Amino acid sequence: MTDNVRQVLHRVFGYRDFIGQQEAVIEHTVAGGDSLVLMPTGGGKSLCYQIPAIVRDGVGVVVSPLIALMRDQVEDLRQTGVRAACLNSTLTYREVLETESAVEAGRLDLLYVAPERLLGERTLQLLSRTRLALFAIDEAHCVSQWGHDFRPEYLQLSALPELFPEVPRIALTATADEPTRREIVDRLSLRDTPLFVSGFDRPNIRYHVVPKNNARAQLRRFLEGHGGDAGIVYCLSRRKVDQTAEWLQGIGVNALPYHAGLDGAIRQRHQDRFVREDGIVIVATIAFGMGIDKPDVRFVAHLDLPKSIEAYYQETGRAGRDGGPADAWMVYGLQEVVTLRSMVDNSEAGEARKRLEVRKLDAMLGYCELATCRRRTLLGYFGETHVQDCGNCDNCLTPVAVWNATEASQKAMSCVSRTGQRFGAAYLTDVLRGRDSERVRRFAHDRLPTFGVGADLDAWQWRSVFRQLVARGLLSVEMERYGSIRLTDASRPVLCGEAEVHMRLDARPVAPRRKRKPREALPPPDPGTWDEALWEALRKRRTELAKAQSVPPYVIFHDATLREMVARRPRTRENFAGLVGVGETKLRRYADDFLAVIAAHEAGGDRSKPGPHP
Ligand code: ADP
Ligand code: ZN
Repeated sequence: MTDNVRQVLHRVFGYRDFIGQQEAVIEHTVAGGDSLVLMPTGGGKSLCYQIPAIVRDGVGVVVSPLIALMRDQVEDLRQTGVRAACLNSTLTYREVLETESAVEAGRLDLLYVAPERLLGERTLQLLSRTRLALFAIDEAHCVSQWGHDFRPEYLQLSALPELFPEVPRIALTATADEPTRREIVDRLSLRDTPLFVSGFDRPNIRYHVVPKNNARAQLRRFLEGHGGDAGIVYCLSRRKVDQTAEWLQGIGVNALPYHAGLDGAIRQRHQDRFVREDGIVIVATIAFGMGIDKPDVRFVAHLDLPKSIEAYYQETGRAGRDGGPADAWMVYGLQEVVTLRSMVDNSEAGEARKRLEVRKLDAMLGYCELATCRRRTLLGYFGETHVQDCGNCDNCLTPVAVWNATEASQKAMSCVSRTGQRFGAAYLTDVLRGRDSERVRRFAHDRLPTFGVGADLDAWQWRSVFRQLVARGLLSVEMERYGSIRLTDASRPVLCGEAEVHMRLDARPVAPRRKRKPREALPPPDPGTWDEALWEALRKRRTELAKAQSVPPYVIFHDATLREMVARRPRTRENFAGLVGVGETKLRRYADDFLAVIAAHEAGGDRSKPGPHP
């Protein structure tokens, strides 16, 4: 069996080896077992059910909530030579009939189905007449009511074990927290099934969190290091999405908005362009991205805080699926903390749910305020212990100093108290720094003992102090009262000198312009073999081939395969077959096209312009 499975890996997919837990999952599934597979986004979940579906008799049914992506997934498989089709509401009646007859005739390896479609009478009838290899439930966390992506139609999937008791079920997700796991196992009746947890680490993603000063200027500087790259910018509100996209277009970034308020056709068009064209930046609410399979997203930027670490990890995980270097970048400030806290407070949810949300938000804020390795904390949250610092997050790359902010905290708290717990951080800072303003005089706050006691810190530092105090619950902010800051129960021990407060010493916002980052997660660029002109010529050919078939370029070949073409310069079909990502079908379809590009390039002798490695 092992041989058979490996053969499919080489012959069909053109990969050299399995990654992570793939082989274990595949063997278990081929043998007919159920399982729950937890792998980070980009961890290679698809092969876990695709190979068993090919190897086992019958068709493998894949349940996915993302019907917009099904066509691309199916196209990707067909390009690879796998017999795949989908059933969802976007098909014409004719296409439905074609797919159904392919299923009945046993002419398919994989069938992608939307959950509501799967449990419709017609599909159930069809499947009951058909030999089934397995059920793969993708994005399985959608079944969890506690999770962050609950989909009611997923609840009905609990009927599967009764209707098809003998067909193995494999549930896959990238969301790892314990309650969600338990709920998946429960609802899909995955009792006594092994849990395959892959390392959650995404070593190629570099994490940065920067205190907000001027978010747009900061984003702009960040994007300078990503010219021509595809990326995602997340914002909390639709309005902010629209405004940010417009502003980015104005400064020459190829940006497109995406949120639930846009017309469906426009949304679809923007998503398609993101997937199909090189170098598009999508500005989106969290409505965007679940299941986006685009492998070459080079950055994910958050202009607003996600509500939980799971959400953050899932959103940032959309970067760098191809293993190449990628950035997860986030800017955050006091305002974001206040907005999220008040969203939780004002939500209609019950008390238990609210407490859970507050806990999740606190964990997220704790992550933002870390002065130590971010990756270690993230992975720790998912139950993985790493003893070494990662060397690839902002805190590892530029260690952060910690200072004893007990006295500053006491001054801040006493200022809050003496001004009547009615003012926001900016005004409190004025009082602390002894700023002589009309407003200060009107309230006679220039006569308070705290007036001017904080002149040793500047406004930027005070902003950092207030943000960190609120993030830790040592102060609170009331949204209804225009962001006025109040004391909390936790303030008292600090005020009385019973508790110390240590804080990050935030770097000043006047950071020097960053140099282009070294991209060490790639195989080191070999200046002797790297050839920018050839790379561009290969990309151009790929785009032409993709356009001609209306498919995304990565469906033809991933960047990794093109990179190998540049480095190894295959001249024969035999050499070509040895490239990663080249299986039998792609060899037959595309070898000649790309070999011709390489040959023409060599004949032209155009090796004059060696450029940076992508
Ligand atoms: P997930 O669904 O877990 O987010 P995918 O299944 O889409 O991840 O795989 C992520 C990327 O890794 C894809 O580009 C895929 O082609 C690649 N990949 C998966 N398995 C292997 C492997 N064994 N060898 C090389 N690349 C792989
Ligand atoms: Zn680190």
